[in-house]
Amino acid sequence: LFDTTPPAWELDDAETKLVARVVLSTGPTGEFDYLVPENFADERRPEMLVEAGRRVQVPLGRGNRPVVAYCTQVGLEPVAGRRLKLLAAVLDTSPLLTPRMLELGRWIAEYYLTPLGQVLEGILPAGVRGKAGTRETTLFSVPTRVSANFTRLDLPEKQAKALMVLAASSKPLAMKQWMARAECTAAPINALRKKELVESRVERIDTDPLLEEEVERRAPHELNTEQAAALHTIADALESREQQTLLLHGVTGSGKTEVYIQAIEKVVSYGRQAIVLVPEISLTPQTVGRFRERFDNVAVLHSHQSDVERHRQWKRIAAGGVQVVVGARSAIFAPTPHLGLVVIDEEHETSFKQDTAPRYHARQVAIQRTKMDRVPLILGSATPSLETWHAAKAGEYRLVTLENRVSDLPLPTVRAVDLRDMDHRHNRGAISRPLYQAMGVALNDGGQVILMLNRRGYSTHVQCPSCGFALKCPQCDVSMVYHRAANQVTCHWCDYTELPPTYCPECKDANIRYGGLGTQKLEAEVRARFPKARVLRMDTDSMRRPGSHEQALDSFRAGEVDILLGTQMIAKGLDFPNVTLVGVINADTALHWPDFRASERTFHLVTQVAGRTGRGDRGGRVLVQTLSPDHPAIVAAMQHNYRMFADNELPDREMLGYPPFGRMARVVVRGKNEEVAQAVASGFAEQMQATESGGSVIGPAPCAIAKLREYYRFHLLIKAGSIEQLHATLAPLAGKLKLPDDVQWIADIDPIDM
Ligand code: ADP
Ligand code: ZN
Repeated sequence: LFDTTPPAWELDDAETKLVARVVLSTGPTGEFDYLVPENFADERRPEMLVEAGRRVQVPLGRGNRPVVAYCTQVGLEPVAGRRLKLLAAVLDTSPLLTPRMLELGRWIAEYYLTPLGQVLEGILPAGVRGKAGTRETTLFSVPTRVSANFTRLDLPEKQAKALMVLAASSKPLAMKQWMARAECTAAPINALRKKELVESRVERIDTDPLLEEEVERRAPHELNTEQAAALHTIADALESREQQTLLLHGVTGSGKTEVYIQAIEKVVSYGRQAIVLVPEISLTPQTVGRFRERFDNVAVLHSHQSDVERHRQWKRIAAGGVQVVVGARSAIFAPTPHLGLVVIDEEHETSFKQDTAPRYHARQVAIQRTKMDRVPLILGSATPSLETWHAAKAGEYRLVTLENRVSDLPLPTVRAVDLRDMDHRHNRGAISRPLYQAMGVALNDGGQVILMLNRRGYSTHVQCPSCGFALKCPQCDVSMVYHRAANQVTCHWCDYTELPPTYCPECKDANIRYGGLGTQKLEAEVRARFPKARVLRMDTDSMRRPGSHEQALDSFRAGEVDILLGTQMIAKGLDFPNVTLVGVINADTALHWPDFRASERTFHLVTQVAGRTGRGDRGGRVLVQTLSPDHPAIVAAMQHNYRMFADNELPDREMLGYPPFGRMARVVVRGKNEEVAQAVASGFAEQMQATESGGSVIGPAPCAIAKLREYYRFHLLIKAGSIEQLHATLAPLAGKLKLPDDVQWIADIDPIDM
């Protein structure tokens, strides 16, 4: 139906006209058609063409309010009987999105139930949209019709000179350059423009090109047998013409990164580019350095970059001058012209899911993007997400395993400290006797200590300190949440509510506890009990300033800090040879998070934090404080045994129809009036049930954060057997919904946080 480059001669046809289809970056959703004025269809002026992937300005509504829109298609269309407005302006001198990226954007819009305009706005970094670091300049040149008839023009002296200078220039000139060369003022130039003797066009030019620092190059390692076999499998996938997803499963230090690098060397030798996604927190100079050592042109994309820098990297990538893009989540949208491979390292990391619209998961988008380009996708992890593991076991992904570490450094020994044992407890403190002793030993030996407290502030579970019993919803099997204000415990999935128990239903102990402990309280305890130690706290509260995270880690690495304590922030991807002790303050907080992924989170957390020690030659110990030392996730993590964890967890998931055996969505409704918001949520639930799609709708129930700012929040959870069934259940949301003014909703497909 549509053609992006319509033949110009058909423009005169009265019945068909050039029509641009657009989506708005904000406001009304859906696609809108506008007539393309002739001056925006003149191929001799490519910088002004209306074209798919460029932004345009269009008049909207009765007031013809000018709004920014993305052009998604341009084509000749029959317009008889249609009342179309004229498009007002073209905002980009070249497309910001390739046809492939538009196609990917459409897929995201449909999969994640997000308006296309919002998706496109989300895909393009702000610095790229704003063309940060560039300036709009008008460039002048002399058209041939003028230069050929030069002698016949009768011009005043200054104008004649200025025109000659411009005609003699090999390139179009900006106003200032032209004035300087012709040694004239603006007056003769403006006169020439008025007489239409010169042509002008607007271009974006860089104001501040930066230079990359040089990095010393390094030769590849000679691969060990396991690595060579892995590379061989990847090479097969690179040569096949079909998309393949490979799971590279190997413990930290098994040489996965070296395998990625050698795979990318092959990709580069084919003249193609690779994208490597790593969790934001591991996007350190160290990580990037490993790629810079091996490739000439590496681009980095991450969220702490300035707009100017991000735009500059984006342009380098789009121009094809980059071999490897290393970046966080959003780098999956890097505009590589000939993509050859995508790698996602630490693929289980939850930071690959975006928590604002579009709520995409980089892994899901990567699968789609590599399918479109028919290139392989490598997912790497020591502890894959169960979704990925299940797909690998089912043969949907190809499983490649690295069983051994490259060096024969052993994995650290992990021991549980059973907090149910009275002998282990120290008053009301958070540090048990065994942990306290171990800290003393480590510090006396000149080692460093990491203490991790997984505190996710607001919600608290109910647990018995004597037997470890934790209160769960009888229907959903997720932990109940204690609400202090109402003095109730509630399942925040299905809204099942009861009074909090006054004694443990299991062992009858009356000390049953609600709650947790924060990092600040822990810091105070550590300082009181180790007054001579230098202590540093690291959590999102203490690390607000940009760069403070790096700084803190630098001073820890430099040995200026003895005890580093913090949230899971410190558990990831860091390498400190002098750390001889890691303490997990309470493994149960993650275990009783009201979410079906609680065990998985706990397993990841303990495994990762355990990986922070034993990196140097001094060995290392890990102590995990818990009320549930026999919980399968904790036992498996202590033994560094991923398969044991997966074999235990998967049957539970299957029984309850949770992912990876089913698909889920979460719909959140918020409103300033509690009853109205709840009624809207109930209305959604009814409409979804009425679809008879076979998906099940749980709730509405108050969200874990039941009130945020001035809004009351309710959510629905939708479970379905397949993505198609899930979409069918959610179909009512895609229709035109009439909602009270202050009520809004969002949908989250494949949610990670419940
Ligand atoms: P992972 O990504 O699985 O954690 P890395 O690729 O970072 O593992 O490898 C761990 C360490 O071993 C790195 O310092 C790396 O340079 C080194 N290494 C990797 N492969 C080899 C090899 N084949 N021979 C020698 N050293 C290697
Ligand atoms: Zn429930």
